[in-house]
Amino acid sequence: MIKEIKDGVLCFDGCSTLELAQKFGTPLYVMSETSILEKFDELRKCFLDKYPNTRVAYACKAFCSMAMIKLCEREGMCIDVVSGGELFTAISAGFPAERIEFNGNNKLYSELEMAIDYGIGRIIIDSPLELKMIEEICEKKNKKVKVLYRITPGIKADSHDYIVTGKKDSKFGFPIDEDVLYPEFERAIDSPYVEFMGLHFHIGSQILDNDPYLQAVEVMLSHIKDIREKLSYEVKEINLGGGFGAVYTDEEKKPYSYFIDPIMARIQNEYKENNLPMPSIVIEPGRSIVAEAGMSLYTVGNVKEIRGVRKYAAVDGGMPDNIRPALYQCAYDGMVANKADLPNKEKVTVCGKCCESGDILIRDCCVPENISRGDLFAVFSTGAYGYSMASNYNSNPIPAVVLVKQGISEIIVKRQSYDEIIERNLIPQMLK
Ligand SMILES: *Cc1c(COP(=O)(O)O)cnc(C)c1O
Repeated sequence: MIKEIKDGVLCFDGCSTLELAQKFGTPLYVMSETSILEKFDELRKCFLDKYPNTRVAYACKAFCSMAMIKLCEREGMCIDVVSGGELFTAISAGFPAERIEFNGNNKLYSELEMAIDYGIGRIIIDSPLELKMIEEICEKKNKKVKVLYRITPGIKADSHDYIVTGKKDSKFGFPIDEDVLYPEFERAIDSPYVEFMGLHFHIGSQILDNDPYLQAVEVMLSHIKDIREKLSYEVKEINLGGGFGAVYTDEEKKPYSYFIDPIMARIQNEYKENNLPMPSIVIEPGRSIVAEAGMSLYTVGNVKEIRGVRKYAAVDGGMPDNIRPALYQCAYDGMVANKADLPNKEKVTVCGKCCESGDILIRDCCVPENISRGDLFAVFSTGAYGYSMASNYNSNPIPAVVLVKQGISEIIVKRQSYDEIIERNLIPQMLK
């Protein structure tokens, strides 16, 4: 078990949370390598090894650090980046450029130049402007890149509005308008600067039902058929995006096979009927790989009881290190890590230290009696979109990230110092 209780203390991947807090301070992000490796194993079993010609591109934005990228490299994964900064992080970690895929709805000219210079594996084109920019850069540099087209299949996955990306009214991808799409595909097929590999969709995040994927696959297959018939071109690759749900509180655990098997069955059937070889199939999971591998540790400070209303327990972090509850009203679970074997006796609302009423990590969390200053509070499943969305709001330093594995712990991102918070500040001449 990755989470277990020993002598009343919560342990994570063999490390006592109390010792981690003493050694590295709080607030602290802890990432379990064992948990990440279990996800990679699962992906190998139910996708990479089960179906030939498949790739997993970990969506770095869920948790982007050089150590995580190294882990992806060692485990044979590809990665998906969405910015020059992520691309730079990956290249700096020594990740092979040809295993990098580049997504994003407004890739900058400079980011595309950087990607083409490094020789990255795929660019997923999001707009007609992007093909123009890629062609211009490739012409200048005498290069050719492999591209896919991101379509928005016009289906609505059941998730928070901000993390739904597959409906027509979206800033992402090409809407299904034939008079825009087909001339665009034709240009890509004819262009000497790009190799048109295929189609991509990413319908949203934290999706717990396979039906929206199957609907999107239907839309995609019908376009692949049209490309075959209208443009006499056979696409070589299908990218199904990410979005597979993770377990935060009491969601039912959905294995990857729940999503992948029916999708693969549908695609295989389509290609078999048409007597055509299967294209490459790529998925881009982010959250589902790292969410459950993360735990955030905080020290409890002020405990405020408003009699007859609510009890607040304030911790030394909050929305700067985990914006998700404030941004999408996400629910988390947690526990008093140093009182892990005491029975829960009351409900408290665990809040942060920021000047925002929305700075609440867990509403009505069940805890033992007398939660008090100095207690260690652990929030579970914070490995995705926590550190990667961290901010310096209220000039709070960004916490350190520690990687743990079977009792061993090592820092992978240093805690930001106050000096680092102000290091880019200048006082101009006119104020001196
Ligand atoms: C964010 C994103 C992903 C990963 O989504 P998760 O919900 O973290 O799995 C994959 N592909 C694209 C294009 C994305 O933008």
